[in-house]
This record gives sequence, C-alpha cells and structure tokens, in this order.
Amino acid sequence: MNILVWSPTTGWDTANFSAHYYLFRTQYKHYGKYFQDTNWSTIGDISAEEAIEQVTEAPAIVFLGIYPWNKNIILDFVKYIGIKYPNTPIFLGGVEINFHDPRPFLEYKNIAGLVKGEGEVPLTQIVDKLHDGQDLYDVPGLYVREGQSFLTPKKEAPRIKFKDGIGPKDGDFFEVKYSYLLENADDILQDIRRNYDENPKKARHTRRYFFWEGTRGCPYGCVYCDWGGGVNTKVRRKPQWMIEQELEFIFKNIEDLYFHLFDANFGIFPQDITTAQHIADLLRKYDRVGKVHISITFAKNNQDNVARIIDILNPVKSPMPWSLDIQSTDQGVLDDIKRTQMPMSFIGEKYKIKENQSKFYTNAMLALPGTTFDKDLKTWCDIFDAGSQLSGYITTIPPQSEMYTPEFIKEWQVKTFVTTYEHATINHLNYRLQNNAEIIHMHSCKSFTTEDYINILIVHELLQLLDGAYITKFARKLANNNGYTAYDFYKPIVDRFLADDNWLGVDINEIRQSIRDWIFDGKPFGEINGVIFTELLLKKLTVSYFLKNLKNDLIDIVGGMHKLMAPALDVGFRTLPVPKGKTVSINANLAYSKSPSCELVETATENTLTVVAEAFYRDSLLDVANRLALPTIIDNLVSNYRP
Ligand code: SF4
Repeated sequence: MNILVWSPTTGWDTANFSAHYYLFRTQYKHYGKYFQDTNWSTIGDISAEEAIEQVTEAPAIVFLGIYPWNKNIILDFVKYIGIKYPNTPIFLGGVEINFHDPRPFLEYKNIAGLVKGEGEVPLTQIVDKLHDGQDLYDVPGLYVREGQSFLTPKKEAPRIKFKDGIGPKDGDFFEVKYSYLLENADDILQDIRRNYDENPKKARHTRRYFFWEGTRGCPYGCVYCDWGGGVNTKVRRKPQWMIEQELEFIFKNIEDLYFHLFDANFGIFPQDITTAQHIADLLRKYDRVGKVHISITFAKNNQDNVARIIDILNPVKSPMPWSLDIQSTDQGVLDDIKRTQMPMSFIGEKYKIKENQSKFYTNAMLALPGTTFDKDLKTWCDIFDAGSQLSGYITTIPPQSEMYTPEFIKEWQVKTFVTTYEHATINHLNYRLQNNAEIIHMHSCKSFTTEDYINILIVHELLQLLDGAYITKFARKLANNNGYTAYDFYKPIVDRFLADDNWLGVDINEIRQSIRDWIFDGKPFGEINGVIFTELLLKKLTVSYFLKNLKNDLIDIVGGMHKLMAPALDVGFRTLPVPKGKTVSINANLAYSKSPSCELVETATENTLTVVAEAFYRDSLLDVANRLALPTIIDNLVSNYRP
C-alpha cells in the first residue's frame, strides 16, 4: 500500500522535514499490523501544483495535516488528487478543522474522514482496517463520511503517553516506547540539508528552525487556544533518557540552529531544570555557546523553576531575547479568557527583567474578548514598565478553540472575518505581506467595536516603533525614573495621534481604511500604495520631528516629565534612517548604557553622545524592526563620544 503523509508549512515557519510523516510512519512501524506491506512517502514544502506532479503512483491512502498556514495548499491538493486518483481516500487532521461544523469539507468528495485529536492511534487503525477491507466506524477520533455528513466518532482518540515518562497512571492513553526523531535521525538530517541548505530562501528565518517537544498537553484551557487538541489535557513527558538523546542529536548535528522548544509549559516539572542543564552542557560540548537561538514557552505558575531555567540558559544561548507570555495585564480580561497566570509585576521580579531589560520580550494578545482599546494600551504600557520589550500578537480564532463554539460566539457577540493575509506587524520580522494562510480573526465583540479594533492594530504598531525601536524609549525611561508610568507618557501622545488626522504627516483615516479593506474586502493587511502603513509612519516620523512641529509638540506633551527630555528625544529620533546616512553629536548630561539596559542615564557633567543614522533603503523597516529583538543593534547606533 502506498501511503502519502503531507503537511507543508505546518507552522509559521518550516521545520525543513515533515514531523507528521516520520511520527506516523514510526507509530505504524511499531503498532500497525502490516508495516512490510506499506510504502510511506511525503512531499516537501511546495505548492499543491508542484506536489501533485510528484505523486506518480496512486496512493492507497492520503493523510493530510491542515493548518492555518497551509489550508489553501491542502484544499487545492485534495482537488488535484481527486482528479488524478479519484479512488484514493483522503483523511484530514489538524487544527484547521472545525468539528463544531465540519460541513464545508463535504464538498470534497474524496475526503473520507476527519481525524480529531492526536493522530497516532486513529491513523494506525485506518491503515490496518483499509488493508483488511473493513469499515472505519469504530476508529476512535475519526469522523467518517457517510453520504452527506460526517459521523461523530463513538470514542475520542486515545492520547499518547511515553513508557517510563511522567504522565497519568490511568485513563485513555496509549503508551509508546519509541522516539521518532532518534529512529529517523539520518533521514531527518538529510531532509534538512535538502530542504534548507539547498533552498534557504524558502525559510522565513536565516537559521535552521527546529521544533522539539519534551511534553505533550496543557492543563489550562485559554478560550482562544487549541493546541492540536491538547488544551485541558494531562501533561505527558518523555522519559529523561529520550529527552537527553534527542537533544544530543539536535545540538550535535544542526548548526545555525533556531531551537523552538514546543512544550506549552516548560518548567512545569522540576525535571525540566535538568533538561535545561543538559541543553547548556550540550552547547558547551559542541562549541555552540552564544550561537543558538532558543525559544521557550514557559510554565505559567512555576516561576521558581522557570527562573532557574533562565539562569542556566542565559550564559549559553544567543542574545535573542526570551519571550514571556502575559497576553493581558487586565485581570478582568484574563478571567474572560480563562487564563491562569501571575501578574506582570510578579513575573518581572522573579525573572529579574529590570536588571536584564532588553533580554526579554513579552507577548500580549491584541483584541481579546473582554478588552477595550484602553485596556490593551494599558497592557502594553505595563509591559514597558516591567522593563520588557513588547510583542503584540493579534488574537486568532482556531476553529477548535472555545472561542469558536456557537455558545461563545453568541454570548460574546463575536464578529469574525477570514483572511488569507497574515497580520503583518513589526514584531514578526517577515513583515512583507503574505497570502498563503487562512486565518480567522474577531473584529468586534461585546467589549470592543470594529473601530476600537482598528485603532488597537494601528496604535500597537506606532508604539512598537516609538518604544520598541527606541525612538521615544530613552525619553520614556527617564520619565519612569521621575515616577511617571509608560501609560502617563504614551496616553497623551496616542490621544493626539488618534485625534489629529495629519499629525505625523500620515493620514490616519487612510490607514484605518487600509485595515478595513483587510477585514472586509480580502485585501492585504494595512497596505497603502504597495507598502505597509508602518513603513509610511517610519518615514514620516523623521520628517515630522525635524522639519515640522512634532518635536515641539512632544515637548509640550511630555517635556515636564524630566528635565532632559529634549536631548533624550533627540537621541532616539536621530537613530531613524535618513535619506543620506549621517553621524551626529548631542551634548547633554546623559550617557548611553549598553545592552542589556540600552538606556540613557543621567550624568553629573556634560557628555557627548554619538548617534549614527543609517541611510534609508528598501529594507529599512526590517532593520528597525530587528531592534526589538536584537538590542545590540542599538549599541551600534548610540555611543558615548570617545576622543
Ligand atoms: S494558551 Fe498556552 S496555557 Fe493557554 S491553553 Fe493554550 S497552550 Fe495552554
């Protein structure tokens, strides 16, 4: 039997190998009945048109993983398979299936079933049963097509737990003893070489992105989340031997690594500290200290463990900041989204954020149910006050999340839209507008209007430029030293920006319209004359500051917050790219303190600060965006004069 497993662009970046393919094939090898009779294959990260060309023999079964980033590709591929191999049954799994209403998939006649939850057990049974010519009604987790409907399965798919790992003692779990990574190590490395090394432009990163999980499941149930069917489930951890051998394989073999540790709550177990120590040891052993990007989603309520992990990994990882997930600092919003987490101030102290300043950025979700424009603004300002960089992530609605249930939609008066264009923010360095996705967003609900939503998206970008990219951040931090909060500082600036149509030389109503077009007319996000509005803002800020009245206006608004506000604003605005690169000197009682603090400190005597403004070019916005994550860039732009 030819079995094809394909799930291109499963996440917002590509892993350069198909985890689905290796996982399901390995599961079948261990627990299926007819491995010798099966011939498994997959396809690379390519378009549906290219993929169908590569399928030259009729598959007996096709398994496809459907995710927001590949939905259009997968559905096109379903059509092409239907034309080329009309008798081949297709089974879909993945987060993009709305099990509240799977009817949209019925029109694809060759989709034989939809798999809900973890796929290992259902996929194995599907292969066995089709091999034996049996029907599929008993397969757990499988919505089988019957005529013009999909039948709800009698039983959910059992979840995977690991032999000798940490996990539930009883309940409906299927114990596995293999590591698909270790069993397929050579093939996976070959795939990475072929898919990344020979074609690096396909990746959004300039590094080899590798995601890895030490656990599955999440005990929490945030309403906006569905994590592969894994929310509200018991956490199951691999055995320590497997964790250590898998990590050895990764850190030994993959250079220029972006290591994404995919656990929903790393640090939830004290054993995760051992894992962190093992990672640190491996980085030293393979001479990779300071060279590997590490991204981790930390546990929400185990701050002592997490603080230990941060201390262990800080000396060995690259300067890429840690990301902390806070989502909102408003307790009412957190209650509304059923989010369990400690307050930002508590987290800030535990992780010593103020001492490490730019080594952290904090994820906040934009436009969550329960929020308002002002609550979101307050959240961003609280994050600034805690000493962290901000990373705003617009709320999406995964089809399997609680937010997409008919009850939630009714109660919250949720109004959604679907876009093929990702929301491009300067946090996500791929700010160029892309249309390979299909993502559901909420543009209004009972706590905010569409106009609020649009303002949230615009002002978030403005603040990321002003504060995240260090244009007004130096001044804001001085104001903080005098007891003013970031909210005190930014609120009047934001009010003026929203009220004064042309204050910064950009027409805010034109920006609003560009976002409305994205919501209601299927246009790219925030595009004006072929560029994203943030780029216009960036260009206009310099002009408005030095040639128009912006400097005086800002002094009028915040000048009273610190006596050195004017030179601090000058330093920040001088870092902006200008038509011709230029180095300027600014004399003030201020000195620049390098990363990780990246701030201006008051001095007793006058000092000369040197600011290097680079020449504006096509990718200037990307360069400015990079400042959010790489504070050493600021060290290259601002320095104290050394004769
Ligand atoms: S957002 Fe994170 S903590 Fe909340 S349910 Fe999802 S995985 Fe769990």
